[in-house]
Amino acid sequence: MRKPLVMGNWKLNGSKAMALDLVTGLNKELAGVEGCDVAIAPPVVYLDYVQKLLADSNIILGAQNVDTHLSGAYTGDISADMLKEVGATHIIIGHSERRTYHKECDKFIAQKFAILKERGLTPVLCIGETEAENEAGQTQAVCAKQIDAVIELLGIKAFNNTVIAYEPVWAIGTGKSATPAQAQAVHKFIRDHLAKLDADVAKQVIIQYGGSVNDKNAAELFTQPDIDGALVGGASLKADAFAVIVKAA
Ligand code: PGA
Repeated sequence: MRKPLVMGNWKLNGSKAMALDLVTGLNKELAGVEGCDVAIAPPVVYLDYVQKLLADSNIILGAQNVDTHLSGAYTGDISADMLKEVGATHIIIGHSERRTYHKECDKFIAQKFAILKERGLTPVLCIGETEAENEAGQTQAVCAKQIDAVIELLGIKAFNNTVIAYEPVWAIGTGKSATPAQAQAVHKFIRDHLAKLDADVAKQVIIQYGGSVNDKNAAELFTQPDIDGALVGGASLKADAFAVIVKAA
C-alpha cells in the first residue's frame, strides 16, 4: 500500500510572519492526522526558520530546488547537503516554472535527481506537458521522455523511494485542474511505463497530481487508484484549505 503524500509548494511567496502564521495553523489543523504524509516547501531562506517551527510536528520539510554541485565556485547555488543540514528531505526538481524560466532541461534535472539520491534525499520529480503538447496528443510522449532522462542516467531502481508529480503545465495556477479521469489516465501511463522495466519499482513509487488542486476538487482526484496525493501551489498558502486537501487524501 502506498501512503499518499500531499506537499505544499509555496513558490516565491511568504515572509517570516507569513511562515509563522501558516505553520502554526498547519500544526494545529493537522495534529494527529495519519494515513497521509504531509510536506511543505517554503522558499529556501526560510527553511531553517520553518524547520524550528516544525519541531514537534509530523510535517516533513521540503525544498523547491537543488543545484547539482556540492560546493565550490557556484555563486548563488544551494547544495543538497545544505538542504539536508537544515532538515529538508523532499526536494522538488524539474518544476515547469524552472524548466520554463530557467531553461532547465531533462538531462540537468536528471543530474539533480542523481545528487539527491546520492545524498539520501527524496526527489519529487515534476513532469508534465504544455497545453500545446496536450492538444497535439503528445502527453504520454512528453512524460515518458522526462522520466527516461532519469532512467538513462541512473537506471530504473533509482525510482525506489521517490516521488513523481504529474503536473500538466496548463493546469498549474490556472484554476483549470485536470479531471480525475484525465489525471488517472496519465498516472496509469506513468506507472505502466515504469513497470515495463521493473514492476516492483512501479508499484511503490508515489505519483502525485499537481495543477490547481484545491479544497473542492481534491477528494475526487484522490479516489483514483494511481493518484497518490498532490503537489499543491496556491491552496497550500492557506492552512484551512491545505488541511482539507490533506484530510481528503
Ligand atoms: P497550483 O500549483 O496548485 O497553484 O496550480 C501547483 C504547482 O505548481 O506545484
